[in-house]
Amino acid sequence: MEKYYWYKNCPACNQGRLIITQDITNERLYLHCEECEMGWLNPSDADENKNGFLTLLVDFETKNPDFELIQKNNWSPVAKYLFEE
Ligand SMILES: [Zn+2]
Repeated sequence: MEKYYWYKNCPACNQGRLIITQDITNERLYLHCEECEMGWLNPSDADENKNGFLTLLVDFETKNPDFELIQKNNWSPVAKYLFEE
């Protein structure tokens, strides 16, 4: 079982969860919609549904970050929900 931290429902498709994902290539976190594959680098942009990008069109490696890494990036307030899978 792995823990996944997520922020809110996706503003683009209103179905998927915005999962906090680690972009290893660019060493940063972003929000990734599990349904429509849209991504946001900034949670406030996701709030306003602006500056989203289609993650499938961008070439980078990803990983599921643990909570320690989320804290290090000051994204603790973004990790509102958790599910295990
Ligand atoms: Zn979506």
